Amino acid sequence: MDDSPVTVRTFLNLAEADACRAMLESEGIAAFVADAATVGADWFLGNAIGYIKLQVRPADAERAIELLREIPEPAVRREARDAVSDDECLACGAAMEQAKACPKCGWSFSDTGFDQTEAE
Ligand SMILES: [Zn+2]
Repeated sequence: MDDSPVTVRTFLNLAEADACRAMLESEGIAAFVADAATVGADWFLGNAIGYIKLQVRPADAERAIELLREIPEPAVRREARDAVSDDECLACGAAMEQAKACPKCGWSFSDTGFDQTEAE
């Protein structure tokens, strides 16, 4: 039986990988983080982006992938996405498009003293 570890997700930094590893282990799945340090000199042969790998035993792979699906995207990528879609009502979460005030609850950015007019 092939028992070599299966990569279930790749990461840009060790902290994210470690957080996911801890989560899997709290679910009883043995998980390992493979990064440049643990795989030695091979790192420069591959793509540096996403190089840190979270690995589990083949028998656990399916469940691990299921569990990881419930984990929010890594904070770095979430922040990048938020930066381009900051047009949600901060009071009720409704889409505000380019409206000055929320079409649903009437809340507006001026309520916070935060002036959006120069954000275009
Ligand atoms: Zn609203």
